[in-house]
Amino acid sequence: AIDFKWIRDNKDAVAVNIKNRNSVANLEAVLELYDKMLAVQKEVERLRGERNSVANKMKGKLEPLERQKLIEEGKNLKEGLVTLEEDLLRLTDELQAEAQCIPNMTHPDVPIGAEDSSIVRKMVGSPREFSFPIKDHLQLGKDLDLFDFDAAAEVSGSKFYYLKNEGVLLEMALVNWTLAEVMKKGFIPLTTPEIVRSSTVEKCGFQPRGDNTQVYSIEGSDQCLIGTAEIPVGGIHMDSILAESQLPLKYVAFSHCFRTEAGAAGAATRGLYRVHQFSKVEMFIICRPEESDSYHEELIKIEEDLFSALGLHFKTLDMSSEDLGAPAYRKFDIEAWMPGFGRYGEISSASNCTDYQSRRLGIRYRPSEQAATNMKKSKGNLGPTKFVHTLNATACAVPRMIVCLLENYQQEDGSVTIPAQLRPYMGGLELVARK
Ligand code: AMP
Repeated sequence: AIDFKWIRDNKDAVAVNIKNRNSVANLEAVLELYDKMLAVQKEVERLRGERNSVANKMKGKLEPLERQKLIEEGKNLKEGLVTLEEDLLRLTDELQAEAQCIPNMTHPDVPIGAEDSSIVRKMVGSPREFSFPIKDHLQLGKDLDLFDFDAAAEVSGSKFYYLKNEGVLLEMALVNWTLAEVMKKGFIPLTTPEIVRSSTVEKCGFQPRGDNTQVYSIEGSDQCLIGTAEIPVGGIHMDSILAESQLPLKYVAFSHCFRTEAGAAGAATRGLYRVHQFSKVEMFIICRPEESDSYHEELIKIEEDLFSALGLHFKTLDMSSEDLGAPAYRKFDIEAWMPGFGRYGEISSASNCTDYQSRRLGIRYRPSEQAATNMKKSKGNLGPTKFVHTLNATACAVPRMIVCLLENYQQEDGSVTIPAQLRPYMGGLELVARK
């Protein structure tokens, strides 16, 4: 339920927003289709009215000639209606498809501009100083026999990998420790389907098809592989009305993620940094609209606490308008220092999507006060519902965490220490050394 009336009533603000976000959305086309759809809708209603009045007249006593005329009239009306109803369906589909690209509105504090306009809102720690020549994660992984890119390239293609030995233990430890930490905050753990309908991807505000899509589609079906658990978790309450007392719903989901990484190039595609398949622990909150800003702060705090506990040096950024993607109203990214890369790399992203996804997914709630009053007033009619807000945030994107941990915790003798938090999840292992 995209609010086209709101878009039309606020078309200047929507146009500015599209420009600020450097979006390809075509507002004029959307408004034109909307007007056409309204006109056809009106005509359909008019014809239905006429058809009903003809049907009513037929119930009375009539001369044969008059009856014949009415039958004729009813037949014509029915034929006209069939054509118009088909037009209406087609226009509705076209309108939905065109409107799919219109981005969410933007939080007033978001810096306007390209990625370099993003603002650092927090800096934690400082880069570790090394007294010896350092290796990057690829070299460390090779020397310590933690992963195999060559075999994966033969078996699957480039940007795939096998984790091996302590590499596997590190992935499991990161996932299990993160899940345990986030569950302590009252989040419900989930594992999710990793194949979803393309329509679910669309309803979450992503484009499952087209040249620039990051989504792997499954040939001969209407399904695709998930790029993030945000899709199946967003879909879990699709087309439902929640009670206010159920909110907030907080989920922490483990899944594999699959991305085509179309167009990705450069040094940042090396090794584990940008791969086609990875494990991720994702947080997702469904809440009342007035609470989404404060839950956004809660999510960023959880991320910062997790990365601090692992001893990483990182900065939190308030992302600029052009870097938000379609669904986010505001987005905070965290970039951690990766010494082997000699630069900061994104390790997490926390977005407040307000009602952008819930409108498309059909997730509403019924304010309890309203429901109680309405219960008394009119039997059975519980009164109006509102769309919830949705938020999502990375708790642990495994490969980039492995990059950070290997590069930051390397020792002069080529070994890597395991952060204290993860040791209980690795059978007490303190150090990964050459065999
Ligand atoms: P996103 O859902 O795009 O915000 O991504 C969430 C997090 O997943 C990012 O902050 C990265 O840490 C990680 N990530 C995204 N794409 C990849 C990839 N192709 N390979 C490895 N990690 C990725």
